[in-house]
Amino acid sequence: DPRLEAISAAIRVVPNFPKKGIMFQDITTLLLDHKAFKHTIDIFVDRYKDMQISVVADDMQMIVGVEARGFMFGPPIALAIGAKFVPLRKPGKLPGKVISESYELEYGHDRLEMHVDAVEPLERVIIIDDLVATGGTLSAAISLMESQGAEVVECACVIGLPEVKGQHKLKGKPLYVLVEPS
Ligand code: IMP
Repeated sequence: DPRLEAISAAIRVVPNFPKKGIMFQDITTLLLDHKAFKHTIDIFVDRYKDMQISVVADDMQMIVGVEARGFMFGPPIALAIGAKFVPLRKPGKLPGKVISESYELEYGHDRLEMHVDAVEPLERVIIIDDLVATGGTLSAAISLMESQGAEVVECACVIGLPEVKGQHKLKGKPLYVLVEPS
């Protein structure tokens, strides 16, 4: 798919951010390139529009985005396929009743929260983020959804870091990524 080259080319790599030795994949430059950004959304939409995300009813399809960069890709996909969008947020940001899930980072840990009334049992969901590295973040997102009885169909990211094999952590859920860092 020639669109993938344009997407790769639009992602800026910033060495030594946020700390020495890390090659940070910066998707803000992808957002600046409206053609490459549209290609990104189109590829996900093509994949999910015909996939039977909902087994219950048309209005029970769901795209879940992980703060913060999952919020940039999730909503346009949700609108295009006719799904609802649910944000998973960092602790203390959501005003309603929440459930939360901790996950390990390289140093220490963090937490994701979701409104309990955002999801119904049996809803089928796609979880979106910009990048998967170890898979720890996506695993926490999967746990949140499954704790409410939802069915995670797939996790999807723009970028997959190949060396960390995030897939092993994803509780057997499929992972779909568009590009790997060059
Ligand atoms: P994981 O939990 O180890 O899979 O890391 C994925 C999370 O870290 C995602 O929420 C990403 O947004 C973030 N992340 C890690 N490395 C990068 C990067 O190079 N660019 C953008 N986000 C990153």
